[in-house]
Amino acid sequence: MRAFSYERASSIEAAVTVAASNPDAKFIAGGTNLLDLMKLEIEAPTHLIDVNGLGLDRIEPTSEGGLRIGSLVRNTDLAADETVRRDYGLLSRALVAGASGQLRNKATTAGNLLQRTRCPYFYDPNQPCNKRQPGSGCSAIGGYTRQHAVVGTSDDCIATHPSDMAIAMRALDATIETVAADGRHRSIAIAEFHRLPGDTPHIDTVLQQGEFITAIVLPPPIGGKHIYRKVRDRASYAFALISIGAVIQPDGTGRIAVGGVAHKPWRVEGAEALLSNGARETARGILADARPTEQNRFKIDLVERTLGAVLAEARG
Ligand SMILES: Cc1cc2nc3c(=O)[nH]c(=O)nc-3n(C[C@H](O)[C@H](O)[C@H](O)COP(=O)(O)OP(=O)(O)OC[C@H]3O[C@@H](n4cnc5c(N)ncnc54)[C@H](O)[C@@H]3O)c2cc1C
Ligand code: SF4
Repeated sequence: MRAFSYERASSIEAAVTVAASNPDAKFIAGGTNLLDLMKLEIEAPTHLIDVNGLGLDRIEPTSEGGLRIGSLVRNTDLAADETVRRDYGLLSRALVAGASGQLRNKATTAGNLLQRTRCPYFYDPNQPCNKRQPGSGCSAIGGYTRQHAVVGTSDDCIATHPSDMAIAMRALDATIETVAADGRHRSIAIAEFHRLPGDTPHIDTVLQQGEFITAIVLPPPIGGKHIYRKVRDRASYAFALISIGAVIQPDGTGRIAVGGVAHKPWRVEGAEALLSNGARETARGILADARPTEQNRFKIDLVERTLGAVLAEARG
């Protein structure tokens, strides 16, 4: 790990001012992703801004009937929150499907959204990787691709976004609240927050340099049955091969977000109108234009079958 300086931010304003003035500075929250990346020198910030003392660890109702989740709320606390469990069960289930108890105790809501891909080549500094080193090439294309994306890929990157929580947030239409160095506040719909790789796969989200996440807002509860199904190689402590976050209403309509298939949480609202036609048609709509490799073609069938199981569970 390279040398770096460290400070505890005294206010949000101070944190964003420092981050905006130093492009090599990074916020640190739970540190469960950033520190691993620093040890491998994939990330090499010269300055860390510890944001843990900013009091952003509350879960509060909004005046619209939704929920504002402070960006520093720990994954464990969010999953266990009584309102989340009752009204946003999908979020609670997705959270507990991720990582391990110890990690969830440290991991924060904002950090979870911003965790980086688990593409094995990204973590191997000896291999070319456009996401780690722009312009160096993509080792996954033509390499080992079992875990990689099947939709929304580009000729420069076929990585997936690894978060379970983000899949639930996408199905629930969350909004991410931020503040920039100039004090400007933004509310970013989660659909717009994560990017597709295109020819700039090193840029994961639409956040600008020094922009800080203060909260994630959920709209009022939408009812329905909340189901999260994660398919993985090991029963626990493993990232998703694919996952499905679903909210299914008694009349059979619903929302479906899919994980493990794209560079961002994948939801195709138009395909949700096909739910009454069953899992096959809906899955085909969700994964239209898929460009799988020989090694990850199985994900197409896996999404269909997992969606079938989700719909069967919803019907009871
Ligand atoms: C062994 C292992 C297994 C895992 N398994 C899973 C799994 O199955 N499913 C899953 O979803 N996740 C899994 N994870 C990932 C884990 O959920 C993330 O590491 C964690 O959520 C990141 O949160 P953090 O607070 O520790 O982020 P940090 O590591 O502190 O930060 C991550 C990034 O977010 C930035 N950041 C943090 N807070 C803010 C803010 N408020 N505003 C702007 N930028 C900010 C940091 O600068 C950094 O770039 C696993 C991790 C490990 C190590
Ligand atoms: S898929 Fe993306 S992250 Fe993986 S090696 Fe290629 S460019 Fe890097």
